Amino acid sequence: MSELLSVTRAMELVLDYAGSVGTEAVDLTMAAGRILQQTIRAERAQPPYDRVMMDGIAFRHGSGPTLVSHGIQRAGAPGQILPEGHVCLEVMTGAVLPEGADTVVPVERLVREGRLICFQEGYEPCKGQFVHRRGSDCTTGTELLAPGCRLDGPALAVLAGNGHAQVSVSRIPSIGIVATGDELVDVSAPVRDWEIRRSNEYALTGALLSRGFNCIERSVVPDDLAETVVALREQLSRHDVLILSGGVSMGAFDHVPKALSKIGVERVFHKVAQRPGKPLWFGVGPEGQRVFGLPGNPVSATTCGVRYVMPMLLAGQGLCRPEPYMVMLDAEVDLIPTLTRFLPVKIRHDAAGQALATPCPMPTSGDFSFLASTDGFVELPFGEGVASRGTAAMFHGW
Ligand code: AMP
Ligand code: MG
Repeated sequence: MSELLSVTRAMELVLDYAGSVGTEAVDLTMAAGRILQQTIRAERAQPPYDRVMMDGIAFRHGSGPTLVSHGIQRAGAPGQILPEGHVCLEVMTGAVLPEGADTVVPVERLVREGRLICFQEGYEPCKGQFVHRRGSDCTTGTELLAPGCRLDGPALAVLAGNGHAQVSVSRIPSIGIVATGDELVDVSAPVRDWEIRRSNEYALTGALLSRGFNCIERSVVPDDLAETVVALREQLSRHDVLILSGGVSMGAFDHVPKALSKIGVERVFHKVAQRPGKPLWFGVGPEGQRVFGLPGNPVSATTCGVRYVMPMLLAGQGLCRPEPYMVMLDAEVDLIPTLTRFLPVKIRHDAAGQALATPCPMPTSGDFSFLASTDGFVELPFGEGVASRGTAAMFHGW
């Protein structure tokens, strides 16, 4: 067993602080992708009236096969009354079934001569056909959406269909991404031979935006303890969550843990038994702000962001926890005796629809050039030997 904190335990500790950022009311037009925080019940029975399901005629079963048209019952008009006798009303899909009628015959099954309408030769309608009965989908007050669901298209339709122009959803936390490192330059600045462009903040921004976290501020601090203290104190006062990149390893200029302790951020853990991402740091600020110190190496930062930061943020939204997504290894993989291995993979599906993960090991945790050709990573428990082809593994998508 490793002496370092296990991935499972580290995640439990992070989730202990997931908290909740509260709720807010948003307009339906702005609610897509948000996490619902109220129960939505049927405003009335669905359908609210006996609904005609085909363009055709409505009549009293048994009164055919030749009927006289008594007029038209269109959608959006109050229901008419069908007189006694061999009569019908011409009806449109979505119309109210006329009172006195019980059956609909579609227009394709009819032959017309002036006001006389006849069933096609040999056609025998079943009583009640093509009538969508009032309340057959749900009755008034039926629970349609529960708190914790993500508002996708069908959920938005339910909100609209039940009169919710506004809806209560989880507030989106304010997130500060802070990059550290004197060697880093901006994407649009000239870059000298001994410098590299900052990229981690964009990997993290991508992961956040694709999960609906759009309240992000990016900033940069140099590798200087005093300046890091000032910058982090300021960032801490402005955000619910800080995601720092770099400066948490053992180097002489890795000031992040010290700076965080100086501004009252309490360390929950530092270092996890995993590769990449062993130096991961996590702590909690004086007002409950969650602070992640991600190792600066791009593969480590991206992986730890997806493995720890995103699940915590989603848990804070009250999202009903999805089942882990399992895939099957498509090749044998070396395990690491004391560390959980996060291995980038490409996903494809075999003819039976089984998700297969092709390992794409990055030579080092700093080599991120080919990460973009992968779909995410699999999580392999520490152990001796190999995980053979066909082993099931938990998959985390970028
Ligand atoms: P550190 O964790 O600060 O020791 O950084 C480890 C490695 O990651 C160094 O090679 C850094 O240049 C690189 N690195 C740190 N921060 C970033 C960043 N924001 N974007 C890209 N690379 C980074
Ligand atoms: Mg650094």
